[in-house]
Amino acid sequence: MLHEFDHRVLGAKYDLFSFFEEAPGFPVWHEGGLRIKNALIDFWRELHGQHGYREIQSPQLMDKELWKKSGHCDYFEENMFFSSVDKRDYAIKPMSCPGAILVFNQKKRSHAELPLRLCELGHVHRNENSGSLHGLMRVRSFVQDDAHIFCAEEDLLHEIKSIIGLIHLIMQKCGLKDYHFELSLRGDGEKKYLGRNEDWDFAESKLEQALVESGLAVLKRPGEAKFYGPSLDVHIKDVHGRSWQCSSIQLDFNLPVRFDVHYFDEKGQRRVPFMLHRAIFGSLERFVGILLENYGKHLPLWMHPVQFKVISVSEEAASYGQEVLRLLRQRGLRVESDLSERLLKEKLKRSYDEMVHALVIVGKNEQERQSVVLKYLEKKIQQEVSLAEFIA
Ligand SMILES: [Zn+2]
Repeated sequence: MLHEFDHRVLGAKYDLFSFFEEAPGFPVWHEGGLRIKNALIDFWRELHGQHGYREIQSPQLMDKELWKKSGHCDYFEENMFFSSVDKRDYAIKPMSCPGAILVFNQKKRSHAELPLRLCELGHVHRNENSGSLHGLMRVRSFVQDDAHIFCAEEDLLHEIKSIIGLIHLIMQKCGLKDYHFELSLRGDGEKKYLGRNEDWDFAESKLEQALVESGLAVLKRPGEAKFYGPSLDVHIKDVHGRSWQCSSIQLDFNLPVRFDVHYFDEKGQRRVPFMLHRAIFGSLERFVGILLENYGKHLPLWMHPVQFKVISVSEEAASYGQEVLRLLRQRGLRVESDLSERLLKEKLKRSYDEMVHALVIVGKNEQERQSVVLKYLEKKIQQEVSLAEFIA
């Protein structure tokens, strides 16, 4: 039997998302779920603006030749979807890296522009095998909060440590405490890796140094690195004790060479920058799944799909209820209402079965006093506050 906090149970019960038989592994967002996802995106966008990131958006389909050049066709082809239009072969992007590189290469770059932090909410598609699909946790299409940072060698350590700081900030804001970093390194098995050994040594040591200087434990995972470079990966534990990989920081010295990425230093010398690939939520779909399993229906207010629900005690308070609803929506809050003729008891009972953060109850008395009664469903707290104070 599924656990009551299983995100698939919550998703169906509260109408957050679903899956179509016609599109296995491709999540369908309903309004409620999309509100959660969009709240995460709004917060992400604001935070990245504050931290000097520049947002871009690259195409879904790009010529297959590009993916041959990037190495994806050699190392990742079985996970990719392809399409053919006008006798030209395209790949549906499984990652956003080549798009960011094409943006960087659109013009001549000077050292003064570095570090250049290009972020993208990339809608990526990956062909996971049907047996491994699992609700929102493992899907075939998801939004990845990606970023690619182009920087000189001397900025590398600072940039990696800044990303670690950003990861802590986001986890804190989302109230997630049970996570840890792992250092994914080359292995000595069958797996193929791109590039020279000395470059791998350098990149692995930089990531380890950043971990140490950030005061974090060094947990090495040989053989877990992606084909193009080592990485620092964040694993979050859910309420069932299962661990899910979310954030990742990858140091890449291969793609810049393959795509002739370069900038000009103070002396006008042509130089190849390092490239950091990083995602913090990782897959937004998976992240919403983890949040649901962590909080159940009581998500933090800022990301809650229904922050308030306005309920009228009697029919005569309905117009005051309308006014309160209008004012709250004007403030940009996500608010629903029940101003019907139903009995209060029935309205409350219905609300307990829904996913609502708090009720805003209004009656004749509240109208006269220009106040509302706030009822927080999780904490079972009830208090009267003035309307002006509440709106503010
Ligand atoms: Zn990338």
